[in-house]
Amino acid sequence: MKYHELDCKSVITKSKLPDTDYVVNPYVGCSFSCLYCYASFMGRFVGESVENWGNYVYIRKNSVEIFEKQLKKLLDKKLKSTIFFSSVTDPYLPIEKKYQLTRKMLEVLKNNHYLGLVSILTKSALVLRDIDVLQELKDVEVGFTIISAKDSISKALEIKAPSITSRLHALSELNSQNIRTYAFIGPLLPHLVQNPLELESLISLVAQTGTKSVYVEQMNLSSYIKQKIISSDKTLANTYLSLQKNKMQLNEDFIRGLLDKYGLHLRLGNVIEHNK
Ligand code: SF4
Repeated sequence: MKYHELDCKSVITKSKLPDTDYVVNPYVGCSFSCLYCYASFMGRFVGESVENWGNYVYIRKNSVEIFEKQLKKLLDKKLKSTIFFSSVTDPYLPIEKKYQLTRKMLEVLKNNHYLGLVSILTKSALVLRDIDVLQELKDVEVGFTIISAKDSISKALEIKAPSITSRLHALSELNSQNIRTYAFIGPLLPHLVQNPLELESLISLVAQTGTKSVYVEQMNLSSYIKQKIISSDKTLANTYLSLQKNKMQLNEDFIRGLLDKYGLHLRLGNVIEHNK
């Protein structure tokens, strides 16, 4: 893994994502190396190839200072905006243990009595380190991405990310500490399309943590990402290839039925589909 430090001019960026006004990415690149990641285009901003995604992290070392300046301008406008950590990296990469950029930005939000929603999405239980700061924020929630009920599938697709088991434990811990949580279930990759019962196990595991709401996202993989997955693992490749000519998405009513069965609220009111 290559690590580099760099300076940035801006770290709070206007968002096109649903449910959020601004996104914050303290790092460029991501050491979790998920095969389905759509963020590999970020490499062009730091001179890295798309193929090299997952092998580098650029640390935006002045980002806390820039964050504070940009936040003060937002506060001047007196808007109660949603700030999301993070859209094209994970805010709790292992390198966050050393640099603590995410933690320091949360402290800036706390010290400035930020009233808007601070939303965090991660795959790492390192977020538990910051429970003390999270509890001081006015409106905060922490989400975990869960793509499978099985650690073995996660290991094949999210190569260097923390296990699903550790994410579920972290959700339970946050719930027990009264921090609002959600799960991001998606993308619904072919292993779930081929075996919808695994989706039921996944939803049941999320419900057991005490988490009450979820986003669900259908799969919409580019041909580059499909190829990356197919060439990575023989068993997964067979699953993916067997579905090539069939419909690659799960029925929305089926998903809603499972969420109802386990008492989970579907955020946005619908399953996310990028081609809609
Ligand atoms: S954790 Fe998120 S940003 Fe990082 S590689 Fe996986 S999908 Fe991409």
